[in-house]
Amino acid sequence: MSHANHDVLIIGGGVAGLVLALEVADQRGVTLLRPASDDRGASRWAQGGIAAVLSPSDDIEAHIQDTLVAGDGLCDEAAVRFTVEQGPAAIEWLLGLGVPFTRDASPGADYPYHLTREGGHGARRIIHAADATGRALMDTLKAHVAAHPAIHIRDDLTAIGLLQDGAGRCRGARCLDAAGRRIDLPAHDTVLATGGASGLYRHTTSPQPASGEGMLMAAETRRHADEPGVPAVPSDLPLRSPGHPLPDQRGGTRRGRATAQYPRRTLHAGHRPACRTGAA
Ligand SMILES: Cc1cc2nc3c(=O)[nH]c(=O)nc-3n(C[C@H](O)[C@H](O)[C@H](O)COP(=O)(O)OP(=O)(O)OC[C@H]3O[C@@H](n4cnc5c(N)ncnc54)[C@H](O)[C@@H]3O)c2cc1C
Repeated sequence: MSHANHDVLIIGGGVAGLVLALEVADQRGVTLLRPASDDRGASRWAQGGIAAVLSPSDDIEAHIQDTLVAGDGLCDEAAVRFTVEQGPAAIEWLLGLGVPFTRDASPGADYPYHLTREGGHGARRIIHAADATGRALMDTLKAHVAAHPAIHIRDDLTAIGLLQDGAGRCRGARCLDAAGRRIDLPAHDTVLATGGASGLYRHTTSPQPASGEGMLMAAETRRHADEPGVPAVPSDLPLRSPGHPLPDQRGGTRRGRATAQYPRRTLHAGHRPACRTGAA
């Protein structure tokens, strides 16, 4: 077990984890848990591009409305508004880092980079790097992260649970190395940037899908905060999914509660859970 203290621990090295690491590292030391398999995760495969209001003929309110319509009642309007309003500055930041977005040299262009129109968007507002935007983004972000003196990358570990202090606050993560040894990474602040949960479904467009591991760890930690004395190691999947088949550990599927279901990627990596239900 390692007992080195980390200031900010970020778990997950897709676009969210890399961007946050760069944002935070100018003020604080960052440990980025980024398994080598992250290079096959969703972020690298994002293809079409990034939506933002960039053309002078486009409009923030129009982007918000297009998003709410496409979301069909599922969107948190405040979150949509915040995200859309931050879009132009975020693209400027990425351009400043050197992301090689495709330029538009045509005489009628009102923005120096090419914008496409996709899905429910009523205007051309998708900035892209040819048809491999995720790869361009990831390569650029990774280069900056690797060069930043305040970011320490751990590519040898997978997080399996969160650590808590006596007051129930999250204080780092419990991890496994490739040999299945448990390594604790205590940290003052911990961020879960572990992506989505498409790996729980039979079909997904991501070749190395995230399986909701971050959500699982957060839910387990919260549950254990109410049960003093029980270690915060995920032992089952606190999800009810009556309509959706969930993968079992033999590669089949079943419906309903997935008990003793360990993160699939952990199993793929040859790891076995150190703890199972009731045996922490
Ligand atoms: C084929 C495809 C095309 C897409 N096209 C677009 C597009 O054109 N435009 C767009 O905006 N979006 C697109 N998306 C969606 C976009 O890729 C995702 O929304 C985005 O990449 C999510 O980034 P993220 O950093 O949150 O998650 P991820 O990229 O999934 O990164 C999370 C990382 O956390 C790591 N992780 C998970 N659990 C653990 C753990 N326990 N310990 C350590 N690490 C862990 C995983 O390895 C993973 O790499 C597309 C997605 C796919 C699959």
